[in-house]
Amino acid sequence: MEFELTQEQQMIYQYGSQLAKTYDRKYWMEKAENREFTHEMWDQMGKDGFLGMMVDTQYGGAGLGMMELALLMEGMSNEGIPLLMLVAGPTMSLAPISSHGTEEQKQKYLPACCAGTKQFCFAITEADAGSNSMKITTMAKSNGEGYKLSGSKTFISGADVADYALVVARTTAFKDVDKKTDGFTLFVVDMKAKGVEIQPIDMSFVMPEVQHSVFFDEVELGPENVIGEVGKGFNILFDCLNPERVILAAMCVGLGRYALDKAVDYASEREVFNGPIGAYQGIQHPLADAKTKIELASLLMRKAAWGIDQGFTEGGDANMAKYAAAEAGIEAVDAALQAHGGNGFTKEYGIFDMYPFMRVFRTAPLNREVILSYIGSHVMGLPKSY
Ligand SMILES: Cc1cc2nc3c(=O)[nH]c(=O)nc-3n(C[C@H](O)[C@H](O)[C@H](O)COP(=O)(O)OP(=O)(O)OC[C@H]3O[C@@H](n4cnc5c(N)ncnc54)[C@H](O)[C@@H]3O)c2cc1C
Repeated sequence: MEFELTQEQQMIYQYGSQLAKTYDRKYWMEKAENREFTHEMWDQMGKDGFLGMMVDTQYGGAGLGMMELALLMEGMSNEGIPLLMLVAGPTMSLAPISSHGTEEQKQKYLPACCAGTKQFCFAITEADAGSNSMKITTMAKSNGEGYKLSGSKTFISGADVADYALVVARTTAFKDVDKKTDGFTLFVVDMKAKGVEIQPIDMSFVMPEVQHSVFFDEVELGPENVIGEVGKGFNILFDCLNPERVILAAMCVGLGRYALDKAVDYASEREVFNGPIGAYQGIQHPLADAKTKIELASLLMRKAAWGIDQGFTEGGDANMAKYAAAEAGIEAVDAALQAHGGNGFTKEYGIFDMYPFMRVFRTAPLNREVILSYIGSHVMGLPKSY
């Protein structure tokens, strides 16, 4: 594994800093507070060729890998722009269509999504199933020629701005399968199709990507809506899980760095007793501790990204990276908040705003406890807890 980034990777990493000159943290916060998607920034990224990082060049993508997609996210988040739709779209939807879609599906969805003119959200979570995706009940019933999709999903980020959803549904009910991972199928659903309804969820913190409940009432789908093999959707989903962990780890380490940079600036200037507060060990050590953990998580994230690009399928590094990055990010924001004193809680300084956003990633998309169980049993060989 090379630690040095290639010139192209450095360029992708630095793109975030350049983008943040036009679409900066203030822009992101204004959008978040208005619950409005960052359309202008997304369009710009499409024009600049950064939305199809893992899509083949013949379909309008950059033909690169997980490392480049992660570096893009890390670079942007370093500047305070944690673009969550990079997870739902390019990571969770475009990548599977790219690797498992038919030629027709690739032609239909990929060029427009890479250009930013069309967008995907990703829908797996259901209220009654929660972290146990095996128990989802959204069902696509076959009528011989096509399917009728019924059920509901929750917490779907960006369902309001998405043209399509990549929906994980059952084509065989849980009770009728031999293996619990059988019977899942992935469908592309047009968000304007008859029978699709969305309802925003009133979240208690803000981000530009609004979470929605999505309802499907006998939505008619054809074989052309199926991605990959019917009943084998979980295999495709497995391919997306490590990339999802990695991209979120990249986001958490980047935003953590952004918080620490702000804390360093503030603590180097602010004087309370003798000299700047950044010299007080009570301020300096938590920041240094968080910085160390952020850089460790970044390294593990890049190792996991590299592994995905090598074709490794084990989830150890990706899960550990996501866990480490979310915890390090939360710690970094908390240390930055403490360093800012009362100012940390003001809109002007913009530190507290980062806290609830970062805290989400201890819970979603996979909570800390399930990840630790995975590491315990799959990486360390301990007995399984569930
Ligand atoms: C901001 C945000 C954006 C999201 N975006 C999307 C999206 O775009 N698409 C999508 O499909 N979903 C999305 N989600 C849903 C997210 O993936 C789920 O919230 C998450 O998977 C957890 O499921 P749950 O909320 O039902 O929690 P539950 O499964 O009810 O878990 C509750 C708590 O129980 C504990 N727990 C659960 N299982 C175990 C276990 N096995 N061992 C020990 N403890 C356990 C954990 O502490 C967990 O936090 C989003 C959620 C949020 C908050």
